[in-house]
Amino acid sequence: MKCRICRAKANVYLRYANAAFCKEHFIKFFERRVRRAIERFEMIEKGDKVVVAVSGGKDSLALLYVLNELSKTMDFEILAVTIDLGIGEYSKLSVEIAKKNYERLGVDYRIIELGDYGFTMDEVAKYRISGRICGICGTAKRYILNKVAKEEGASKLATGHNLDDFLQVILQGYLYGNLGDLARYYPVSPSLPGLVARIKPLVTTPEKDSLIYTIAKGIEYVVMECPYSLRASSQDLKNAIFYLEERRPGTRFSMFNTYVKMIHPLIREAYFKGGVLKKCKECGEPTNADVCLFCRVKSSVLAKKGA
Ligand code: SF4
Ligand code: ZN
Ligand code: ZN
Repeated sequence: MKCRICRAKANVYLRYANAAFCKEHFIKFFERRVRRAIERFEMIEKGDKVVVAVSGGKDSLALLYVLNELSKTMDFEILAVTIDLGIGEYSKLSVEIAKKNYERLGVDYRIIELGDYGFTMDEVAKYRISGRICGICGTAKRYILNKVAKEEGASKLATGHNLDDFLQVILQGYLYGNLGDLARYYPVSPSLPGLVARIKPLVTTPEKDSLIYTIAKGIEYVVMECPYSLRASSQDLKNAIFYLEERRPGTRFSMFNTYVKMIHPLIREAYFKGGVLKKCKECGEPTNADVCLFCRVKSSVLAKKGA
């Protein structure tokens, strides 16, 4: 097969686009698609300071490399942030790999220790704090990233959610009727008092393409899986979507476009509860409850530690 652009020998074939690319033109195609998603959903404006959440996995590193590239022509600034979640060897390796990439690119970065905020994820597991461990971890990551973004005067917070992640969440919302959550689920979440605007620049990027991009760019990423990862249900949904994609290439893009253009506006109109948040009585961060979930988890861990 030949590259669609330069007719040299192709290295990558994308079935959904019925197109083949050499390495160099795949990288260009990948970066252009991210740029188009940023423009389509008005994710970044000139002069923005964008915090890029980097876990060390392939998606977040692909995001970092693309945003670093685009920042040069689109006139915005990036700051990479990695949270050491305190998950034994997994966290050590993730931080080490993130740092190597920061140094390779020469980007500004911060490494934040969850332990400095009161607990580690290993403690959450050890003391069997109630709630799904990945749910608690997600809350901790959102809390810290938002706090750090505010401290750094950032106007946007970018995460590496890809097309498959996005579709999995909306399918989960349909199946379990979490329409209140879907009313807020979109490629961009506007900024609210105390909350920095969140953006998903890889939202039109299939997961496998991120992997190909990291390989094509020679990016080192964490292959080790988190010991607490229980992917069963989310992976089942992704597999179901992928089954449809295999039979009808392009299904994922069609699902995505139908959701953002037709379904989301209806769900939002019917189920959006408004964006007004209270301030947590303990830490002052935005929350729907009197005390935010982060502070409640922290108190539980401290109580069990002291017991
Ligand atoms: Fe956190 Fe769960 Fe991801 Fe592990 S698998 S890093 S616990 S969200
Ligand atoms: Zn080419
Ligand atoms: Zn709080």
